[in-house]
Amino acid sequence: MDIRVSRLHFPVTTLGPGRRIGIWFQGCSIRCAGCISMDTWADAGGETSVAAVLAQVREWLPLATGITISGGEPFDQPEALLALLRRLREAAVDDILVYSGHAFESLAATLTQADGLIDALITDPFDIDAPQTLGLRGSDNQRLHCLTALGRARYATYAQAPRSAAKALDVMFDEDGSVWFAGIPERHDFLRLQEILSEQGHRIQISADKARSRSDGKFRP
Ligand code: SF4
Repeated sequence: MDIRVSRLHFPVTTLGPGRRIGIWFQGCSIRCAGCISMDTWADAGGETSVAAVLAQVREWLPLATGITISGGEPFDQPEALLALLRRLREAAVDDILVYSGHAFESLAATLTQADGLIDALITDPFDIDAPQTLGLRGSDNQRLHCLTALGRARYATYAQAPRSAAKALDVMFDEDGSVWFAGIPERHDFLRLQEILSEQGHRIQISADKARSRSDGKFRP
């Protein structure tokens, strides 16, 4: 099964409990204003297979608390998402958290087929004007759905839980010098970081800059 993936990473510690494997899908049709992941919007790039993704994450599985699938928009590739979820369950993964920018109600067809495959699901588009007070969510309009017994046991406490007072992001360094962050930053944190580094003589591009400058659709898998 073909799939488009922006990146894979372990450990991710800021998007769900414990040390998690992060799988970011490539491509997003929703295009929320203020999105911090604009480099994942393009429909082209990151072409690979579900089997290749499994092969890459398999060595991390014994060390991981669970899997967080985000993007990009996972439900824009429904068949690939379902195939990936089934393969992860076959590999005995028992904690799968999925992010979607679509409304929960619009996902009914895919969710029917995903019955039992997703433990917790966060839905609805990022709203830059909404308050930002709830755990695991970038804006308070986003809803957390606990879909399995494990999901209810492990994620119910997040439903109305305030964001942690401790500000935390995962930082990843690529071989080409790119620096990636995972987690949910405070509003405009990356613009502030860009300003601070610029004042110190560093040149950086943030996700929005890269999305604007890339017109060839080539993204790293
Ligand atoms: S759904 Fe997520 S990746 Fe897509 S535009 Fe909104 S915040 Fe960005």
